[in-house]
Amino acid sequence: MTMLPKPADTRSATQDGTAPSASAMPARHVKHKHTPSARGQWPAAPGHTVQFYADDDFLMKQIGKFVYEGLTAGEACIVIATQNHRERLEQYLAGEGLDLIAACEKGMYTSLDAALTLAQFMTEGSLDDETFRRVVGGIVAQAAYGHGKGSQRRRVRVFGEMVALLWAGGDHAAAIRLEEMWNELRESDASPPFSLCCGYPMSDFASEAHEQAFREICATHSQVIPDERYTALANAEERLRAITLLQQQASSLAGATAGRKAAEEQVRISEHLYRHLFEAATDGILVVDPATQVIIEANQVVADLLGSTPAQLLGRNLLRVGVFPDQESAEAVWRELEEQQLARREALEIHVGNGQVRCVEFVGNRFQVNSHEIIQCHLRDITDRKRAEEAQRQLEARKDAFISMASHELRTPVTSLKAFTQVLQRRLRKQPDVDPQVLQVLDRMDEQINRQARLIRDLLDLSRMEAGYLALHETWFDLDDLVRETLDTVQPTIQTHTLRLEGATHVQVYGDQERLGQALINLLTNAIKYSPRADSVLVTLRSDREWAEVAVRDFGIGIAPKHQRRIFERFYQADDSHTSTYPGLGIGLYIAQTILERHGGRMWVESSVGKGSTFHFGLSLLRQGGPSESDSGHSDLQPGSAEVS
Ligand code: ADP
Repeated sequence: MTMLPKPADTRSATQDGTAPSASAMPARHVKHKHTPSARGQWPAAPGHTVQFYADDDFLMKQIGKFVYEGLTAGEACIVIATQNHRERLEQYLAGEGLDLIAACEKGMYTSLDAALTLAQFMTEGSLDDETFRRVVGGIVAQAAYGHGKGSQRRRVRVFGEMVALLWAGGDHAAAIRLEEMWNELRESDASPPFSLCCGYPMSDFASEAHEQAFREICATHSQVIPDERYTALANAEERLRAITLLQQQASSLAGATAGRKAAEEQVRISEHLYRHLFEAATDGILVVDPATQVIIEANQVVADLLGSTPAQLLGRNLLRVGVFPDQESAEAVWRELEEQQLARREALEIHVGNGQVRCVEFVGNRFQVNSHEIIQCHLRDITDRKRAEEAQRQLEARKDAFISMASHELRTPVTSLKAFTQVLQRRLRKQPDVDPQVLQVLDRMDEQINRQARLIRDLLDLSRMEAGYLALHETWFDLDDLVRETLDTVQPTIQTHTLRLEGATHVQVYGDQERLGQALINLLTNAIKYSPRADSVLVTLRSDREWAEVAVRDFGIGIAPKHQRRIFERFYQADDSHTSTYPGLGIGLYIAQTILERHGGRMWVESSVGKGSTFHFGLSLLRQGGPSESDSGHSDLQPGSAEVS
């Protein structure tokens, strides 16, 4: 049974830093049970090999073979390794039948602690070349020459883990430098030749960042031995296959890495854009954690609004930073965010200090970002908009008040003028020798007064409509009769056009006869005014079970599509340049439409420039006691559903 030197013995032989005593031990003196089945990994000529490994057992076997081959060939072996590796190696060699005690005594086997040996030539964390040469060079020389001066020089094998220690400690540059120092020592004339093997665990290189350093380590060695996953392969074919597989894995990994890098770059760009938007936004933005109500992001705008800084807002509770007027309304907003994922407040008043109040529109959204829930709140300062709206409202109110007052003031004198004119007309007509021209002038005066009176009535109606005071005096009446009577009233006042009537509705409707007549007059007046070259206006009546419709068609200038929807707005006139040619106030259609709407009816237009326009007004018969409302049969006369000629 072979005796092993106790690990403690080995340590004591080396910890003082001096080279252990060694003496020649010819190969024949080394006893062994059998030759290990090494596959000849180790170079015959002295070289510098690196052995990568994944598993300690594999390393021990490899180094065991390295040392075993050396010792049985009469070479001196030096092991500078961790305590654990040294012990396991000795067990392995003993298991192979080597008498290590004898080998140690003869200086054939030297075992040193890697950390302690390294410490001898590291000063203040840096490698010291000089000391390395002296210490490590001395160990090698002693192994090569033994004690006796002039004794025959032995070949030397060294297994070292000092570089691996430096690497594992993160000092990659030092590890590579130490590899170089070993090379320099090997090439130096002062040192006996030796072959060197270093062991590195593959797990230490499992990062993309190590690629360059890994290449450098390989470059410092004359032979690189892959870890057991490769070495264990039985034959050249298997190895080629393994290499091919590795190449494929490497290229797919490179592709995946490039894809990942592109995705990371995209994420970086998005983040950058988001940050830029966040900071450059004119809205105030708060990002809140829904679990805690705590603010996790705040931009400068919101900080300014709340009289704070973004940093001061972080970590504070959204409900208590002064966005909401009181706790109750803050909690109501939070409930909406939880239940509907959305909360909106039109106008929150925020006290920004110095007694100033800003009006803010608040919108909060709850959503998921990368499986994290967040709440993003936008606060838009609408103080200026609100002020402008208020100023506009006041202006409109003043304008309405003025129109109302002016039309009231005008109505009395115009009514008197009308009365006086009628008195004059009556008296003069009774005189036999009256100048007919005087009567003509009086008629024209009467016409102008009527026009004036209509204008004033329109203005008064406008005021009433704006104030919501347009009273309706509703009764049942015959729609066809109303239209006929209205045409009969208007026709005598115009000389240029003939008003033609076609069709009939045959319906009774419930409504304010006078107001509906007024709406029709407004349409007729426009039809005449805007068709100066035509000589007729066509009024068509039709109805079905649900709908009665009056259409007023002219053959005049028509209305461009862009104006068609807006002409029903008050004071809107299709073309400014027309105003001198077609005088008006731009309220006739507004009034007509409002009257129709008050009756549950509708008004719409079809028109084509240069050809003329048709204004339709429709009244629902369902509302007026016609067929029951539950009878929802579709009417062909609904706006836009059928052309009415
Ligand atoms: P206005 O007093 O200007 O006629 P309205 O409210 O009655 O005011 O009409 C609004 C505008 O619609 C008119 O200014 C005109 O441009 C356009 N419009 C109304 N009726 C017709 C029509 N029959 N043909 C062409 N344009 C019309």
